[in-house]
Amino acid sequence: MLRALATPTVDHRGPAFEALTRELLAALAPVFRCAGPIVIFPSSGTGAWEAALVNTCAPGDRVLMAETGHFASQWRRLAERLGLAVDFLPGDWHSPADPDAIREHLAEDHDRTIRAVCVVHNETSSGVVSDIAAIRTAIDAAKHPALLMVDTVSSLASLPYDHDGWGVDVTVAASQKGLMLPPGLGFNALSPRALEVAAANDAPRGYWDWRPVIEANSGGRYPYTPASNLFFALREALAMLAEEGLDNVLARHARHAAATRAAVDAWGLENVCREPAHASAALTAVLLPEGHDADAFRKVVLERFGMALGNGLGRFAGRVFRIGHLGDFDDLMLAGTLSGVEMGLDLAGVPRAGSGIAAALAVLSSARA
Ligand code: PLP
Repeated sequence: MLRALATPTVDHRGPAFEALTRELLAALAPVFRCAGPIVIFPSSGTGAWEAALVNTCAPGDRVLMAETGHFASQWRRLAERLGLAVDFLPGDWHSPADPDAIREHLAEDHDRTIRAVCVVHNETSSGVVSDIAAIRTAIDAAKHPALLMVDTVSSLASLPYDHDGWGVDVTVAASQKGLMLPPGLGFNALSPRALEVAAANDAPRGYWDWRPVIEANSGGRYPYTPASNLFFALREALAMLAEEGLDNVLARHARHAAATRAAVDAWGLENVCREPAHASAALTAVLLPEGHDADAFRKVVLERFGMALGNGLGRFAGRVFRIGHLGDFDDLMLAGTLSGVEMGLDLAGVPRAGSGIAAALAVLSSARA
Protein backbone atom coordinates (compact mmCIF):
# COMPACT_ATOMS: atom_id res chain seq x y z
CA MET A 1 0.00 0.00 0.00
CA LEU A 2 2.82 2.41 0.80
CA ARG A 3 4.38 1.61 -2.55
CA ALA A 4 1.05 2.34 -4.23
CA LEU A 5 0.93 5.72 -2.48
CA ALA A 6 4.33 6.55 -3.91
CA THR A 7 3.22 5.87 -7.50
CA PRO A 8 4.09 8.86 -9.71
CA THR A 9 1.08 11.15 -9.92
CA VAL A 10 -0.77 10.62 -13.19
CA ASP A 11 -3.09 12.69 -15.37
CA HIS A 12 -6.36 12.44 -13.48
CA ARG A 13 -8.25 13.18 -16.70
CA GLY A 14 -6.54 10.40 -18.61
CA PRO A 15 -8.03 6.99 -19.48
CA ALA A 16 -6.04 5.02 -16.90
CA PHE A 17 -7.30 7.16 -14.04
CA GLU A 18 -10.86 7.09 -15.36
CA ALA A 19 -10.72 3.31 -15.34
CA LEU A 20 -9.34 3.36 -11.80
CA THR A 21 -12.18 5.62 -10.61
CA ARG A 22 -14.78 3.26 -12.06
CA GLU A 23 -13.01 0.24 -10.56
CA LEU A 24 -12.85 1.82 -7.09
CA LEU A 25 -16.46 2.99 -7.04
CA ALA A 26 -17.56 -0.54 -7.96
CA ALA A 27 -15.27 -2.14 -5.36
CA LEU A 28 -16.48 0.20 -2.59
CA ALA A 29 -20.14 -0.79 -3.09
CA PRO A 30 -19.89 -4.13 -1.21
CA VAL A 31 -17.90 -2.51 1.61
CA PHE A 32 -20.69 0.01 2.28
CA ARG A 33 -23.31 -2.47 0.98
CA CYS A 34 -24.67 0.43 -1.02
CA ALA A 35 -26.01 0.17 -4.55
CA GLY A 36 -26.33 3.94 -4.87
CA PRO A 37 -23.62 6.46 -5.68
CA ILE A 38 -20.60 6.79 -3.41
CA VAL A 39 -19.04 10.24 -3.46
CA ILE A 40 -15.34 10.45 -2.59
CA PHE A 41 -14.04 13.83 -1.43
CA PRO A 42 -10.42 14.85 -0.87
CA SER A 43 -11.18 15.50 2.80
CA SER A 44 -11.09 14.20 6.31
CA GLY A 45 -14.16 12.75 8.01
CA THR A 46 -15.22 16.23 9.10
CA GLY A 47 -15.58 17.24 5.46
CA ALA A 48 -17.75 14.19 4.82
CA TRP A 49 -19.93 15.21 7.81
CA GLU A 50 -20.32 18.68 6.31
CA ALA A 51 -21.11 17.29 2.85
CA ALA A 52 -23.89 15.10 4.31
CA LEU A 53 -25.48 18.12 5.98
CA VAL A 54 -25.14 20.79 3.28
CA ASN A 55 -26.52 18.60 0.51
CA THR A 56 -29.66 17.65 2.40
CA CYS A 57 -30.38 20.60 4.70
CA ALA A 58 -30.63 24.38 4.50
CA PRO A 59 -29.69 26.84 7.25
CA GLY A 60 -32.54 26.98 9.75
CA ASP A 61 -33.53 23.33 9.17
CA ARG A 62 -33.89 21.01 12.17
CA VAL A 63 -31.92 17.81 12.60
CA LEU A 64 -32.05 15.25 15.40
CA MET A 65 -28.74 14.00 16.76
CA ALA A 66 -27.98 11.54 19.55
CA GLU A 67 -25.28 12.36 22.09
CA THR A 68 -23.23 9.18 22.08
CA GLY A 69 -19.93 10.91 22.92
CA HIS A 70 -17.29 13.33 21.70
CA PHE A 71 -17.73 12.73 17.97
CA ALA A 72 -21.52 13.06 18.10
CA SER A 73 -20.94 16.34 19.97
CA GLN A 74 -18.48 17.50 17.31
CA TRP A 75 -20.94 16.70 14.51
CA ARG A 76 -23.56 18.70 16.42
CA ARG A 77 -21.20 21.69 16.72
CA LEU A 78 -20.51 21.55 12.98
CA ALA A 79 -24.26 21.42 12.22
CA GLU A 80 -24.83 24.44 14.43
CA ARG A 81 -22.02 26.36 12.71
CA LEU A 82 -23.82 25.62 9.43
CA GLY A 83 -26.93 27.29 10.85
CA LEU A 84 -28.93 24.13 11.53
CA ALA A 85 -31.13 23.80 14.61
CA VAL A 86 -30.04 20.64 16.41
CA ASP A 87 -32.29 18.66 18.74
CA PHE A 88 -29.63 16.84 20.75
CA LEU A 89 -30.91 13.77 22.57
CA PRO A 90 -28.81 13.58 25.74
CA GLY A 91 -26.64 10.53 26.37
CA ASP A 92 -24.20 9.44 29.08
CA TRP A 93 -21.25 8.61 26.73
CA HIS A 94 -21.34 5.01 27.99
CA SER A 95 -24.36 3.78 26.01
CA PRO A 96 -25.62 3.70 22.43
CA ALA A 97 -28.18 6.01 20.86
CA ASP A 98 -31.63 5.11 22.20
CA PRO A 99 -34.05 4.11 19.39
CA ASP A 100 -37.08 4.56 21.69
CA ALA A 101 -36.07 8.12 22.51
CA ILE A 102 -35.61 8.80 18.78
CA ARG A 103 -39.05 7.35 17.99
CA GLU A 104 -40.72 9.39 20.75
CA HIS A 105 -38.98 12.59 19.68
CA LEU A 106 -39.96 12.14 16.05
CA ALA A 107 -43.55 11.29 17.00
CA GLU A 108 -43.73 14.66 18.79
CA ASP A 109 -42.60 16.46 15.62
CA HIS A 110 -46.16 16.88 14.37
CA ASP A 111 -45.23 19.30 11.57
CA ARG A 112 -42.50 16.92 10.35
CA THR A 113 -39.88 19.69 10.35
CA ILE A 114 -36.95 17.44 11.32
CA ARG A 115 -34.97 16.81 8.14
CA ALA A 116 -32.57 14.15 9.31
CA VAL A 117 -31.61 11.85 12.16
CA CYS A 118 -27.81 11.78 12.52
CA VAL A 119 -26.12 9.00 14.48
CA VAL A 120 -22.51 7.97 14.99
CA HIS A 121 -22.38 4.20 14.45
CA ASN A 122 -19.14 3.54 16.33
CA GLU A 123 -18.46 6.32 18.83
CA THR A 124 -14.66 6.46 18.73
CA SER A 125 -14.43 8.29 22.06
CA SER A 126 -16.20 5.54 24.00
CA GLY A 127 -16.07 2.33 21.97
CA VAL A 128 -19.88 2.09 22.02
CA VAL A 129 -21.81 0.92 18.95
CA SER A 130 -25.33 2.11 18.14
CA ASP A 131 -27.91 -0.18 16.52
CA ILE A 132 -28.57 1.48 13.16
CA ALA A 133 -31.23 -1.00 12.01
CA ALA A 134 -33.17 -0.32 15.23
CA ILE A 135 -32.95 3.42 14.60
CA ARG A 136 -34.37 2.97 11.08
CA THR A 137 -37.19 0.92 12.63
CA ALA A 138 -37.79 3.75 15.13
CA ILE A 139 -37.99 6.37 12.35
CA ASP A 140 -40.41 4.18 10.40
CA ALA A 141 -42.49 3.45 13.52
CA ALA A 142 -42.90 7.21 14.01
CA LYS A 143 -43.94 7.43 10.32
CA HIS A 144 -41.46 10.26 9.98
CA PRO A 145 -39.87 11.27 6.66
CA ALA A 146 -36.50 12.27 8.20
CA LEU A 147 -33.40 10.98 6.43
CA LEU A 148 -31.11 8.65 8.36
CA MET A 149 -27.48 9.78 8.24
CA VAL A 150 -24.83 7.59 9.83
CA ASP A 151 -21.21 8.31 10.68
CA THR A 152 -19.14 5.18 10.02
CA VAL A 153 -15.75 6.91 10.22
CA SER A 154 -14.48 4.30 12.69
CA SER A 155 -16.77 1.40 11.81
CA LEU A 156 -16.60 0.93 8.06
CA ALA A 157 -14.73 -2.30 7.25
CA SER A 158 -14.28 -2.94 10.98
CA LEU A 159 -17.86 -3.67 12.11
CA PRO A 160 -20.77 -5.20 10.22
CA TYR A 161 -22.48 -2.44 8.24
CA ASP A 162 -25.33 -2.49 5.71
CA HIS A 163 -26.24 0.86 4.14
CA ASP A 164 -29.03 -0.52 1.95
CA GLY A 165 -30.22 -3.28 4.27
CA TRP A 166 -30.52 -0.94 7.25
CA GLY A 167 -32.23 1.80 5.25
CA VAL A 168 -29.51 4.40 5.68
CA ASP A 169 -29.76 7.49 3.46
CA VAL A 170 -26.27 8.96 3.86
CA THR A 171 -23.29 7.04 5.17
CA VAL A 172 -20.33 9.20 6.19
CA ALA A 173 -16.88 7.58 6.18
CA ALA A 174 -13.18 8.37 5.96
CA SER A 175 -10.04 6.64 4.78
CA GLN A 176 -7.89 6.47 7.89
CA LYS A 177 -9.44 3.72 10.00
CA GLY A 178 -10.89 0.42 8.76
CA LEU A 179 -9.75 1.19 5.23
CA MET A 180 -6.19 1.31 6.59
CA LEU A 181 -5.18 4.36 4.52
CA PRO A 182 -3.62 7.66 5.48
CA PRO A 183 -6.14 10.42 6.18
CA GLY A 184 -7.39 12.36 3.17
CA LEU A 185 -10.45 10.69 1.67
CA GLY A 186 -13.99 11.41 2.88
CA PHE A 187 -16.96 9.37 1.65
CA ASN A 188 -20.72 9.84 1.38
CA ALA A 189 -22.70 6.75 0.30
CA LEU A 190 -26.18 7.70 -0.85
CA SER A 191 -29.69 6.28 -1.06
CA PRO A 192 -32.13 7.25 -3.83
CA ARG A 193 -34.04 9.28 -1.24
CA ALA A 194 -30.94 11.25 -0.25
CA LEU A 195 -30.48 12.12 -3.92
CA GLU A 196 -34.09 13.27 -4.21
CA VAL A 197 -33.83 15.43 -1.11
CA ALA A 198 -30.55 16.91 -2.35
CA ALA A 199 -32.08 17.67 -5.75
CA ALA A 200 -34.93 19.56 -4.08
CA ASN A 201 -32.60 21.41 -1.68
CA ASP A 202 -31.78 24.83 -3.10
CA ALA A 203 -29.42 25.87 -0.29
CA PRO A 204 -26.13 27.14 -1.75
CA ARG A 205 -23.18 24.75 -1.75
CA GLY A 206 -20.11 24.40 -3.91
CA TYR A 207 -17.17 22.15 -3.13
CA TRP A 208 -19.33 19.68 -1.19
CA ASP A 209 -22.11 19.46 -3.78
CA TRP A 210 -22.72 15.79 -4.65
CA ARG A 211 -24.25 16.53 -8.04
CA PRO A 212 -21.18 17.61 -10.07
CA VAL A 213 -19.17 14.72 -8.61
CA ILE A 214 -21.79 12.12 -9.49
CA GLU A 215 -22.14 13.59 -12.97
CA ALA A 216 -18.38 13.59 -13.61
CA ASN A 217 -18.02 10.10 -12.07
CA SER A 218 -20.30 8.68 -14.75
CA GLY A 219 -17.38 9.28 -17.11
CA GLY A 220 -14.78 8.20 -14.53
CA ARG A 221 -13.81 11.82 -13.87
CA TYR A 222 -13.91 14.39 -11.06
CA PRO A 223 -14.92 18.06 -11.18
CA TYR A 224 -11.65 18.91 -9.38
CA THR A 225 -8.27 17.29 -8.81
CA PRO A 226 -8.93 14.11 -6.81
CA ALA A 227 -6.45 12.83 -4.20
CA SER A 228 -5.11 10.50 -6.86
CA ASN A 229 -2.29 8.88 -4.92
CA LEU A 230 -4.74 7.93 -2.19
CA PHE A 231 -6.82 6.29 -4.92
CA PHE A 232 -3.88 4.03 -5.77
CA ALA A 233 -3.60 3.10 -2.10
CA LEU A 234 -7.37 2.60 -1.84
CA ARG A 235 -7.13 0.03 -4.64
CA GLU A 236 -4.61 -1.89 -2.51
CA ALA A 237 -6.72 -1.55 0.65
CA LEU A 238 -9.81 -2.89 -1.12
CA ALA A 239 -7.74 -5.74 -2.57
CA MET A 240 -6.49 -6.60 0.95
CA LEU A 241 -10.06 -6.65 2.28
CA ALA A 242 -11.24 -8.78 -0.65
CA GLU A 243 -8.32 -11.18 -0.31
CA GLU A 244 -9.01 -11.86 3.37
CA GLY A 245 -12.78 -11.62 2.84
CA LEU A 246 -14.74 -8.83 4.54
CA ASP A 247 -16.54 -11.29 6.84
CA ASN A 248 -13.19 -12.69 7.98
CA VAL A 249 -11.89 -9.17 8.59
CA LEU A 250 -14.93 -8.39 10.73
CA ALA A 251 -14.59 -11.70 12.63
CA ARG A 252 -10.90 -10.94 13.29
CA HIS A 253 -11.78 -7.54 14.75
CA ALA A 254 -14.55 -9.09 16.89
CA ARG A 255 -12.08 -11.65 18.32
CA HIS A 256 -9.52 -8.98 19.05
CA ALA A 257 -12.15 -6.87 20.79
CA ALA A 258 -13.25 -9.88 22.89
CA ALA A 259 -9.65 -10.58 23.88
CA THR A 260 -9.12 -6.92 24.78
CA ARG A 261 -12.26 -6.84 26.92
CA ALA A 262 -11.09 -10.00 28.69
CA ALA A 263 -7.80 -8.22 29.48
CA VAL A 264 -9.61 -5.13 30.79
CA ASP A 265 -11.81 -7.28 33.02
CA ALA A 266 -8.81 -9.22 34.34
CA TRP A 267 -6.98 -5.97 35.12
CA GLY A 268 -10.06 -4.97 37.10
CA LEU A 269 -10.42 -1.78 35.07
CA GLU A 270 -13.68 -0.30 33.82
CA ASN A 271 -14.69 -0.47 30.17
CA VAL A 272 -16.28 2.85 29.13
CA CYS A 273 -18.89 0.81 27.25
CA ARG A 274 -21.28 -0.42 29.95
CA GLU A 275 -22.91 -3.29 28.03
CA PRO A 276 -20.65 -5.85 26.30
CA ALA A 277 -23.42 -6.30 23.69
CA HIS A 278 -22.75 -2.74 22.51
CA ALA A 279 -18.96 -2.90 22.67
CA SER A 280 -16.97 -1.90 19.61
CA ALA A 281 -14.93 -4.34 17.55
CA ALA A 282 -12.69 -1.45 16.47
CA LEU A 283 -11.47 -0.03 19.76
CA THR A 284 -11.84 -0.38 23.51
CA ALA A 285 -11.92 2.68 25.78
CA VAL A 286 -10.80 2.12 29.36
CA LEU A 287 -11.37 4.28 32.45
CA LEU A 288 -8.55 4.51 34.96
CA PRO A 289 -9.42 4.38 38.66
CA GLU A 290 -10.12 7.70 40.40
CA GLY A 291 -6.87 9.53 41.24
CA HIS A 292 -4.89 8.12 38.29
CA ASP A 293 -4.03 10.28 35.28
CA ALA A 294 -4.63 8.49 31.99
CA ASP A 295 -2.36 10.90 30.11
CA ALA A 296 0.55 10.27 32.52
CA PHE A 297 0.04 6.52 31.95
CA ARG A 298 -0.09 7.00 28.16
CA LYS A 299 3.13 9.04 28.34
CA VAL A 300 4.91 6.20 30.14
CA VAL A 301 3.76 3.73 27.48
CA LEU A 302 4.82 6.04 24.65
CA GLU A 303 8.23 6.83 26.10
CA ARG A 304 9.05 3.34 27.29
CA PHE A 305 7.59 1.24 24.45
CA GLY A 306 7.02 3.69 21.61
CA MET A 307 3.34 2.74 21.59
CA ALA A 308 0.70 5.44 21.10
CA LEU A 309 -2.56 4.75 22.94
CA GLY A 310 -5.60 6.89 22.13
CA ASN A 311 -6.33 9.68 24.60
CA GLY A 312 -9.54 10.44 26.46
CA LEU A 313 -11.61 12.92 24.46
CA GLY A 314 -13.95 15.65 25.63
CA ARG A 315 -15.31 14.84 29.07
CA PHE A 316 -13.05 11.75 29.23
CA ALA A 317 -9.83 13.83 28.95
CA GLY A 318 -7.23 12.58 31.41
CA ARG A 319 -9.48 9.73 32.61
CA VAL A 320 -9.59 7.35 29.66
CA PHE A 321 -7.17 5.63 27.32
CA ARG A 322 -8.18 3.83 24.14
CA ILE A 323 -6.80 0.67 22.57
CA GLY A 324 -7.30 0.53 18.81
CA HIS A 325 -7.67 -3.00 17.38
CA LEU A 326 -8.80 -2.24 13.85
CA GLY A 327 -7.21 -2.34 10.44
CA ASP A 328 -4.27 -4.51 9.47
CA PHE A 329 -3.82 -6.07 12.92
CA ASP A 330 -3.09 -9.63 13.98
CA ASP A 331 -3.06 -11.75 17.13
CA LEU A 332 0.59 -11.13 17.99
CA MET A 333 0.24 -7.39 17.43
CA LEU A 334 -2.67 -7.40 19.88
CA ALA A 335 -0.71 -9.52 22.35
CA GLY A 336 2.17 -7.02 22.11
CA THR A 337 -0.20 -4.08 22.50
CA LEU A 338 -1.83 -5.53 25.61
CA SER A 339 1.59 -6.41 27.04
CA GLY A 340 2.63 -2.77 26.58
CA VAL A 341 -0.53 -1.67 28.41
CA GLU A 342 0.03 -4.12 31.27
CA MET A 343 3.66 -3.14 31.74
CA GLY A 344 2.69 0.53 31.44
CA LEU A 345 0.05 0.17 34.17
CA ASP A 346 2.69 -1.25 36.50
CA LEU A 347 5.27 1.37 35.60
CA ALA A 348 2.75 4.18 36.09
CA GLY A 349 1.67 2.76 39.44
CA VAL A 350 -1.92 2.03 38.36
CA PRO A 351 -3.20 -0.88 40.46
CA ARG A 352 -4.54 -3.92 38.63
CA ALA A 353 -6.32 -7.03 39.84
CA GLY A 354 -4.65 -9.68 37.70
CA SER A 355 -3.01 -10.43 34.37
CA GLY A 356 -4.94 -9.15 31.40
CA ILE A 357 -2.42 -10.81 29.11
CA ALA A 358 -3.23 -14.31 30.34
CA ALA A 359 -6.95 -13.62 29.91
CA ALA A 360 -6.47 -12.18 26.42
CA LEU A 361 -4.22 -15.02 25.28
CA ALA A 362 -6.82 -17.54 26.46
CA VAL A 363 -9.36 -15.86 24.15
CA LEU A 364 -6.93 -15.55 21.26
CA SER A 365 -5.78 -19.15 21.42
CA SER A 366 -9.29 -20.58 21.75
CA ALA A 367 -11.50 -18.52 19.51
CA ARG A 368 -9.97 -18.70 16.05
CA ALA A 369 -12.87 -19.02 13.63
N1 PLP B 1 -16.43 10.74 13.32
C1 PLP B 1 -15.78 9.81 14.04
C2 PLP B 1 -16.55 8.67 14.59
C3 PLP B 1 -14.41 9.92 14.22
O1 PLP B 1 -13.76 8.98 14.93
C4 PLP B 1 -13.72 11.01 13.66
C5 PLP B 1 -12.28 11.15 13.85
O2 PLP B 1 -11.62 10.36 14.49
C6 PLP B 1 -14.45 11.96 12.94
C7 PLP B 1 -15.80 11.78 12.76
C8 PLP B 1 -13.79 13.16 12.34
O3 PLP B 1 -12.98 12.73 11.31
P1 PLP B 1 -11.67 13.55 10.87
O4 PLP B 1 -10.82 13.68 12.08
O5 PLP B 1 -11.08 12.67 9.80
O6 PLP B 1 -12.13 14.86 10.34
